[in-house]
Amino acid sequence: MKIVVLVKEVPDTYGEREIDPETGLANRAASESVMDEINERALEVALRYADANPETEVVVLSLAPETATATIRKGLAMGASRAVHVADDALVGADYGVTGEVIAAALRRIGYDLVVAGNLSTDGSGGIIPAMVAELLGVPHATALSSVSITENEVTGQRSSDAGIMQMSAPLPAVISITDRLPDARFPNFKGIMAAKKKPLEVLNLADLGVELSESAVPHSIMVSVSERPPRAAGVKILDEGDAGKKLADFLAQNRLV
Ligand SMILES: Cc1cc2nc3c(=O)[nH]c(=O)nc-3n(C[C@H](O)[C@H](O)[C@H](O)COP(=O)(O)OP(=O)(O)OC[C@H]3O[C@@H](n4cnc5c(N)ncnc54)[C@H](O)[C@@H]3O)c2cc1C
Repeated sequence: MKIVVLVKEVPDTYGEREIDPETGLANRAASESVMDEINERALEVALRYADANPETEVVVLSLAPETATATIRKGLAMGASRAVHVADDALVGADYGVTGEVIAAALRRIGYDLVVAGNLSTDGSGGIIPAMVAELLGVPHATALSSVSITENEVTGQRSSDAGIMQMSAPLPAVISITDRLPDARFPNFKGIMAAKKKPLEVLNLADLGVELSESAVPHSIMVSVSERPPRAAGVKILDEGDAGKKLADFLAQNRLV
């Protein structure tokens, strides 16, 4: 069984996050970059299966700037067998279409029985890449799973919604995405960190994958403008002089909140 885990490097969720108003891209220098926490959980799903089935190969795949090596190595230190890092200057500012196309091309090259992704990244928050990748590969996808069970031929799990819980199943090969209801990931231990230094980490560019980013080959979305969020205005303070209830109701009515 070969399980490929899609890992995105993101600005530290607890740090300051900034958009560069000139380029409209994340200012990656403004904070520390880390593996998205949801992707650590996705990797944990694959590693638990590998713990019980030692012939399993777990591959970490990331499309990220060249500086993302440490983040990808963390996946190896946690226990992945090898990693593939797609880095190419032409990918700066890659939109969903381009990202999905390039990840699908990398997966065709790597080969896979199961692809495990997060349901939503903490920075881009598109929540669309896993479904796009499955569509491009022509395989089933089961997204936003809150529990996962893998067998040799099938992946099953539950997807929770406001309306209830859906039981999902897909024959392999398939793509799944998971939510943060899956268990916390393991920490890399010293042995894992040392072993990671010797594990294969292949760096590929677009030419290696045979992907051309001409406009006719892959549709692009175009950002027409970008601006910083305006600073928060001070709130309205209501002093209770016996008429606070009325003032509160007036405020809600004025702001069309009731
Ligand atoms: C050189 C370079 C610069 C980039 N700069 C930026 C940037 O400034 N801001 C930005 O948001 N993105 C950047 N990316 C990454 C890429 O453009 C985004 O990953 C893409 O737009 C996905 O959007 P999302 O985060 O909303 O995906 P979602 O659909 O919310 O992600 C869901 C899941 O899909 C998988 N996934 C998503 N993206 C990747 C990825 N890149 N690699 C592996 N798995 C992935 C993960 O499992 C993730 O949990 C850059 C990539 C490269 C190569």
